[in-house]
Amino acid sequence: MQFSTIIGQYDVKQRLINTVKDNRVSHAQLFLGPEGSGSLALAVAYAQFLSCEDRKADDSCGICSSCRKYEKLVHPDLHFSYPFFAKHKDDNALTFIEEWRDALLKNPYLSLDIWRNSLDAENKQANINIAECHQIIKKLSLKPFESPYKILILWLPEYLDKEGNALLKIIEEPQPNTLFLLVAQNQDQILNTILSRTQLVKIPALSDTVIKQYLIDEHHQTEHAADEIAFLSNGNLTEALAMLGEDDNSYHDILIKWLRMCFSNKGTEVMNFVDVLAKMGRENQKNFMRYGISYIREICMIIAGAGELVHLPASELDTAQKMTKVMTLASAEAISDIFEKAHYHVERNANPKILFLDVSLQIISVLHFKIVPQGNQYIPI
Ligand SMILES: [Zn+2]
Repeated sequence: MQFSTIIGQYDVKQRLINTVKDNRVSHAQLFLGPEGSGSLALAVAYAQFLSCEDRKADDSCGICSSCRKYEKLVHPDLHFSYPFFAKHKDDNALTFIEEWRDALLKNPYLSLDIWRNSLDAENKQANINIAECHQIIKKLSLKPFESPYKILILWLPEYLDKEGNALLKIIEEPQPNTLFLLVAQNQDQILNTILSRTQLVKIPALSDTVIKQYLIDEHHQTEHAADEIAFLSNGNLTEALAMLGEDDNSYHDILIKWLRMCFSNKGTEVMNFVDVLAKMGRENQKNFMRYGISYIREICMIIAGAGELVHLPASELDTAQKMTKVMTLASAEAISDIFEKAHYHVERNANPKILFLDVSLQIISVLHFKIVPQGNQYIPI
């Protein structure tokens, strides 16, 4: 993976390149960036740059023997550690290395959800277990085989638990020419003992402009479609890529159908519809909730008399205007709130059938019965 294939992040790339030029490569670094910012891809590109046999001023060469192995993620001095879903207590990251290489090569903007889905591990807990920590120590006690550096990229150290403390000694006093690149999303969830031993490389979320341009250049999206996806993805390229596969209008159609059913309180139809939503898959459900939140926000703007600020395609605008006849600002805000909470619960693995049934009942109470829960009771809106 070369820097040139990674979207945006020019400042971060330059800072990483400078550490090599100035010969101040720290042996333990923490790449901290939100999902979809490209932090994992940047760590791989940095490792490839460090190991390249014919390094250029601002990127690895891409063709030397080291680069060729890096491009397939099979270099003997490149090691990966990541959360996995252990079936046996002796399982470690190597048990899943083939799946890992496939998943990462297919999508360098991998999220834990995508990784989980590629392993078909729906209900198992992600973890970096003690067997894996021992495996890391064993791998890193050997000298590099071919490169000047032996590099371990540890993705999501948030999943290390207390077992991660087994790694402290090797992080603090590594073998010569051994590098630790930790790639994390939530600083708060990393063991303090590990945090204090690493140098921080902060990676910001991508800007809407960068994502939009990428969607136009690389995915042949129209200006309008690229604009919408960039806006909805909120700086998260993983989300933007997931949304690409979707028919733009399908979320809109599903949402309107659902809201209408709830408005008329059609019990059986709602129950059947919940099954459809439950089968959408987690990424899709999250995108759908996100779409719902922004669509309702646009409806709020129309109700509030700021219709000129609404940016929706003509057909969606038409239905949004019709929806204002059955919604007040209070009920629109209540629904937006319900979607926000649903998004939160989808992310945390709630049972989709129970969740979407509950969400449907809440929307029915808002749209049909015109009431919202407050504390232990329902109040009219
Ligand atoms: Zn090279």
